[in-house]
Amino acid sequence: MNKQDIQDIKELLSAPKKVVIVPHKNPDGDAMGSSLGLYHYLTKLNHEVQVIAPNDYPDFLKWLPGDSSVIKYESAVKESDALIKNADVIFTLDFNALHRTGSMEDILTSSMAIKIMIDHHQQPDDYATYMYSDVSMCSTCQMMYHFLEMLGEEDCIDKDIATCLYTGIMTDTGSFRFRSTSSMTHRVIANLIDRGADNAQIHNSIYDTNSYARLQLLGCALSNLKIVPELCTAYISLSQKELNKYNFKKGDTEGFVNYGLSLKGIIFAVIFIEHQQESIIKISMRSKGDFDVNQFARTYFNGGGHTNASGGRSELSLSATIEKFITILPSHKKDLNP
Ligand code: 5GP
Ligand code: MN
Repeated sequence: MNKQDIQDIKELLSAPKKVVIVPHKNPDGDAMGSSLGLYHYLTKLNHEVQVIAPNDYPDFLKWLPGDSSVIKYESAVKESDALIKNADVIFTLDFNALHRTGSMEDILTSSMAIKIMIDHHQQPDDYATYMYSDVSMCSTCQMMYHFLEMLGEEDCIDKDIATCLYTGIMTDTGSFRFRSTSSMTHRVIANLIDRGADNAQIHNSIYDTNSYARLQLLGCALSNLKIVPELCTAYISLSQKELNKYNFKKGDTEGFVNYGLSLKGIIFAVIFIEHQQESIIKISMRSKGDFDVNQFARTYFNGGGHTNASGGRSELSLSATIEKFITILPSHKKDLNP
């Protein structure tokens, strides 16, 4: 995003516009935090703003300021299509390709609105009128902060905006511990605290709302954990039957994959989760150091993401997916060593 782009966007937003904000499907803290942070900013400027999430998201995000204004596309298709058709500007946040919005892809593709992408995923598609893509950034929420800075609008950041942006930076950095966390991330976080983000309350609202059933499900996942020590790899599987047994709710498996990575000597961790309703196995991958799980997910499991965090899917059964994975692993032997 160059100076001219910023100038154009400033001008575009200098009079009230109809704005739609879209995060990716199965939105996480960064997707919802950046969407709602931007929502509060644009609402302050008297734009007509609507966040449309492709589908529902976990309850632990539903306390975010502005949450009650969000529409879920899957359960409001007609209303959402009309809003998208009438929009002057569409912001697409925290994703790099329109198919990442699931069933919103077609209506977004055909929309004539000015599209502004803000995103930190690798290999972004070229669909946006203005593109702010930076794969070195830890989160779209940090990019949203820099976007407001570039617009000369830091002073507009109030407690609600600060709370939303803090949340996404915290969740996408694993509470400021992943490699993507920079000194600049900490500077941004410090400024967000100064502007009203209550760090202890935010952490508590996201992480300390476990149900007993979720902890039992974690116990099940950990007892299913397998390691391949010679390839520094750990993986977990959860079948639909196991999910049902522990009354699985959206978001319950968030973060489970990191337990594999917490093992001494492990640099590649994977979780395979059966989704009977969609007839797929959802796969999450994490790594430490240079092992590129974005490439791994793209090559074998129809997915993508970042170097150290990615996701994908398989249409094979759970056991066949794991078998495929185990068969592939040795071909990466040279990258999978301490
Ligand atoms: P998670 O494992 O938490 O679902 O996703 C990890 C990272 O990979 C996130 O940044 C997410 O946006 C990205 N990701 C997850 N699933 C997919 C996918 O199917 N395709 C692509 N391109 N990225 C994905
Ligand atoms: Mn993100």
